[in-house]
Amino acid sequence: MIEVKNLTKYYNNFCAVDGINLEIKKGEILGLLGPNGAGKTTTLRMLTGFFKPTAGDIMVKGISISDNTLGVKELMGYLPESAPLYHNMLVYDYLCYVAKIRGITGEKIDSRLKELSELCGLSNIMHQSINELSKGLKQRVGLAHAMMNDPEILILDEPTSGLDPNQIAEIREIIKRIGKEKTIIFSTHILSEAEATCDRIVIINKGKIVADDSTQKLKNYAASGDSLFFSLYNLNGDNSFADEVLKNLRNVGSNIEIVKKEPLEKGLVSFEIHTNSHDSKYSGDSGSFIKDLRKEIYLKIKETDWIIAEFKRESKTLESIFHELTKGN
Ligand code: ADP
Repeated sequence: MIEVKNLTKYYNNFCAVDGINLEIKKGEILGLLGPNGAGKTTTLRMLTGFFKPTAGDIMVKGISISDNTLGVKELMGYLPESAPLYHNMLVYDYLCYVAKIRGITGEKIDSRLKELSELCGLSNIMHQSINELSKGLKQRVGLAHAMMNDPEILILDEPTSGLDPNQIAEIREIIKRIGKEKTIIFSTHILSEAEATCDRIVIINKGKIVADDSTQKLKNYAASGDSLFFSLYNLNGDNSFADEVLKNLRNVGSNIEIVKKEPLEKGLVSFEIHTNSHDSKYSGDSGSFIKDLRKEIYLKIKETDWIIAEFKRESKTLESIFHELTKGN
């Protein structure tokens, strides 16, 4: 549906988007995730034909955006971060106006407005002035605007920015509903947002893609970084037994690393076990899940006179992967 090749944008000497390559399939809900300043808005503005790339190209259904910008714009609906609305108009009047600009005429205007008011939950506010609406409701009017010409692709820039949790949930539901029939690309810097709504997540940092995978695979990747923590007491109160523990436990699993933590108190030593397979660069490989080694470790410890003071398993979250991949921004 959309093919992005080596997309690059310079603002004077500053490279905001640095050679992005992407293929977006029909019907995908793709979340473009990244910290502030990562290049999300710049990327979306190039995708919608509002900005000309410094280099690279975007093909939409085989049409090059640089050859036929208007043709590509026809296929898209775009909701910028702050919906550009005429605040002194009634919602109904505003959407009629947008419909006419979009070339909808006569009775078709009312039938389209009815469809959109149902889709975007506007039925109760059609005859209210836009400046009386909450930010969440304004955003829904903006969404109806973007959907007016029934585009195949919907591009949303931070659609939930500044909304309260209830409004976020409402917009999320509408995006999911629309996503059953359309291709949707939306940007966000909120990971839970992308996780809850998207089939696929692309993380960008400093203008470059640092991860691109299905939401499920990214979650699996996060889970592959599970760690085990445990603390042991030695009955004679001596910490020097830590090296003996390390030696004993080294073979409980393959491809694992056991790290000794600073002793918290005399006779108490803590350890962390994690897989070796993670480096900070996302490889697209979900890696081997850390095998649950609790049983093996317990049995080893049982052979000794060490006492288990604490034992827990900690899962890495998608959040920690996001921080790892975008640190230094
Ligand atoms: P994001 O949407 O991820 O927050 P942007 O695409 O808005 O990121 O910005 C990416 C980088 O480009 C930022 O460092 C920003 O300051 C810079 N930038 C954005 N727009 C302009 C502009 N019109 N002129 C110069 N620099 C810009």
